[in-house]
Amino acid sequence: MKLYENQSLKIYNSLSGEKEVFSPIHDGNVGMYVCGPTVYSNVHLGNVRTFMSFDVIFRYFLHLGYKVRYVRNITDAGHLENDAEVGEDRIAKKARLEQLEPMEIVQRYTVDFHTILHKLNFLPPSIEPTATGHIIEQQEIIQKIIDNGFAYESNGSVYFDVVKFNETNHYGKLSGRNIEDMIANTRDLDGVSDKKNPQDFALWKKAEPQHIMRWPSPWGVGFPGWHLECTAMSTKYLGETFDIHGGGMDLKFPHHECEIAQNEACTGHSPVKFWMHANMLILNGKKMAKSTGNYILPNEIFTGENTILSKAFSPNVTRFFMLQAHYRSVLDFSNDAILASEKGFNRLMEGMELLDKLIPSSVSTLSIAEWKKSCYEAMNDDFNTPILIAQLFEGIRYINLVNDGKETLTANDLSELKTSLKNFIHDVLGISNEQEESQHADKLEGVVNLMIQMRNEARANKNFALSDQIRDQLLALGIQLKDGKEGTTFSVN
Ligand SMILES: [Zn+2]
Repeated sequence: MKLYENQSLKIYNSLSGEKEVFSPIHDGNVGMYVCGPTVYSNVHLGNVRTFMSFDVIFRYFLHLGYKVRYVRNITDAGHLENDAEVGEDRIAKKARLEQLEPMEIVQRYTVDFHTILHKLNFLPPSIEPTATGHIIEQQEIIQKIIDNGFAYESNGSVYFDVVKFNETNHYGKLSGRNIEDMIANTRDLDGVSDKKNPQDFALWKKAEPQHIMRWPSPWGVGFPGWHLECTAMSTKYLGETFDIHGGGMDLKFPHHECEIAQNEACTGHSPVKFWMHANMLILNGKKMAKSTGNYILPNEIFTGENTILSKAFSPNVTRFFMLQAHYRSVLDFSNDAILASEKGFNRLMEGMELLDKLIPSSVSTLSIAEWKKSCYEAMNDDFNTPILIAQLFEGIRYINLVNDGKETLTANDLSELKTSLKNFIHDVLGISNEQEESQHADKLEGVVNLMIQMRNEARANKNFALSDQIRDQLLALGIQLKDGKEGTTFSVN
């Protein structure tokens, strides 16, 4: 029996504005799509927060026993500088400024993105598709939307006809906007636009001669509109209707609104059961912006090389800090707040260490089953990580009470407490076990020192074949021995 069969998970659906009971479209399977980064600069701390929210959601589904297909894309083309579809492609612009190939920009910042997420102990998604890898799929969707009468070709570009679509569907249902207001607020068509209405958005944009990212299409050489890639990649891997679509709050409009319109215009039905949006991260009470200096990169937190924080904070503490706010609340990052988190984090880790040393009793005076239930209730209530963390501290309080002889737990309950704490801290919240990692490092050091000792003995016995064999085979494993005056040391590559 899977864990999820006993749990009633409620998720806040941005589309209905309510928490709804989650039941997947296909029994035991969850399909989740999250809009990934546009890889034209180092990953922003606010984006890290969004992706972390969905990493925990992914982890909790896995913990419950679901088979999850988690798709998070890489936007490597089509995302223009602003939502009004003017300006350059973000990646093409960076490539022009740095005199690099667009794909060099994409590679550099995709690697940065993966490195930061790896440091923060993210699970990789099941599929990480790119926009440039799905140009054909995007063109197929455009053709279907044109055939269905909801898009038109104009001067080498193709636009989605928002007004026509709204006659039979509801454009604005996710963001709560209505088209009459949108039209009233944007009357001034500049006269040079190829669009019928200012609200129309590009499915395919004609590439001007200077535009370096370009592909052939039935409508001429150009590039896909940004909103289209997510429709193409989500439905390709998750089906025409899937369980969850997530992203940052800022993507609700126009990006996700346009995705819904594209799907409905293409297939005749809505793509997603649950729309989920993670709130933003601010720094010292203000919006983060490079231009004002109110800005910090994830790596600058880990190294301490910044002017915002008083010291360095480990990726684990940074992760713990972020999860102390609910994903739908604004998170205010500040020195005081992360210092407080670090204290809490240490208290949690110390409690876990103490747990191993507790002596079981014949009776339990605390209910571990009740406590465990509260942990699940927190996560089942729209992934409420701050409440879960409060419950984990309650578990630590139990440990201290037992240690002080004020309460008792049986061996079974102690083991249950330990398993649950580990499950929630490591598997669900994704806090890596630094202590275990350092224990592994200690063991490695012990083994290599033993090999060095055996090599010294071989040399003393003039068995140079064996001593060289030890050195060479360690080197093949990435461990280099260095002979010096003080004896032999080693480094791990
Ligand atoms: Zn997207």
